Amino acid sequence: MDIIIVGAGIGGLAAAAALLQRGHKVRVFEQSPQLSEVGAGIQMSANAVKVLDAFGLRRRLEATGVRPKAFEFRRFDSGELLHGMPLGELHEQQHGAPYFQIHRGDLHAALRDAVHQLDDKVVVLDSKVVRVEEDSSHASVYFENGSSASADLVVGADGIKSVVRKHVIGADQPVFTGQLAWRCTVPIAKIAPELRTDILSTIWCGPKNHAVTYYLRGGELLNFVGCVERPNEEESWTAKRPWRELSEDYAGWHPKVRAIIDAVDRSQCFRWALNNRAPSMSWSSARVTMLGDAVHATLPYMAQGAAMAIEDAAVLARALELDAPLQEQLRTYEWHRAPRTARVVEESTEMGELYHISSAEEMRKAFHDRNIAKSRNEWLYSYDPLRDSLT
Ligand code: FAD
Repeated sequence: MDIIIVGAGIGGLAAAAALLQRGHKVRVFEQSPQLSEVGAGIQMSANAVKVLDAFGLRRRLEATGVRPKAFEFRRFDSGELLHGMPLGELHEQQHGAPYFQIHRGDLHAALRDAVHQLDDKVVVLDSKVVRVEEDSSHASVYFENGSSASADLVVGADGIKSVVRKHVIGADQPVFTGQLAWRCTVPIAKIAPELRTDILSTIWCGPKNHAVTYYLRGGELLNFVGCVERPNEEESWTAKRPWRELSEDYAGWHPKVRAIIDAVDRSQCFRWALNNRAPSMSWSSARVTMLGDAVHATLPYMAQGAAMAIEDAAVLARALELDAPLQEQLRTYEWHRAPRTARVVEESTEMGELYHISSAEEMRKAFHDRNIAKSRNEWLYSYDPLRDSLT
């Protein structure tokens, strides 16, 4: 098939690689003048790494990423361990692929190179799509400069503010969740040895606020994500904020968290507004479909948004191989993806509530009752987007 993908983020590039591998003709139109990602970390669990592996990226992930030993959930002030969950070798043994923490720029560059190895003319930059149309034989995208392109199928991988979504579902807006995310990276050399954590993913849980810390680039860089509730605040999508505000949000937190805040480059403190949408069960028209944040934007509290986009890419490519008309192939893709992605959106919101309990006693009980390790292991990480039955 002749396929247009709108957006060259993690989801769009994963879809391009999966579709090119299966022999389709692919063009990816990206609005930005260059290919780039946010300067922060990302976690990739076995369910997504299986797909990255099939693109030949395992060695690249090993070289640029970090394999954390465990998740540790700790109280924000005392550092008391509330819950643990092994990762490392056990994650790979149980779920069929490793767990990596990697710089977004490194993951994005690895995907770009995988696509370029298959066809180096696929990605077209500086091409902002403003409208989508379709008839019985083609789907077309119209660009800001007045030109257009047509194909058999258009795939919207254009993120939470998707233009493709307007065509398929209508102009529904994402909803501000009342939560904000600080994101920073700090060279580990700037942290005193006694204030460094082990190679872990540590979730520091506090009242109406939590922070996640983990390593990138072989342990040279520490990633900090701070998620604070601020329901009534007017918030733009991404904003540079004074370091003082970041510091106030984490006043009184554990010395290992404070050490990171104190070491942050004070001119580089960015805060994101966290938006999501109620899950959809259907997101395709006759010749246009979507994947990733364009469909199922989620809070990041299970670290699964990009993993879902990568899974979508693999399942869409498989569905397009079925011996059936295009509309049936797209229905199969949605039916397979909708319940799983909806569950991720819903459980990610629940995780925010769990991480933000204030009393130490309630927190211990909630973590004990919720047993995150058990619930996630059963359905989330063992899933294989390349092999699980599509019927
Ligand atoms: P995007 O990354 O938004 O990419 C969309 C692309 O489309 C962009 O390149 C954009 O420029 C382009 N585009 C948009 N509109 C147009 C247009 N009109 N024309 C042409 N191009 C267009 N997920 C994980 O799996 N693990 C994690 O650890 C994790 N941590 C997170 C931490 C935070 C704080 C946040 C906010 C999110 C986190 N996520 C994580 C979620 C993850 O970042 C997103 O789910 C993922 O990036 C979505 O990818 P995407 O390709 O669907 O969309």
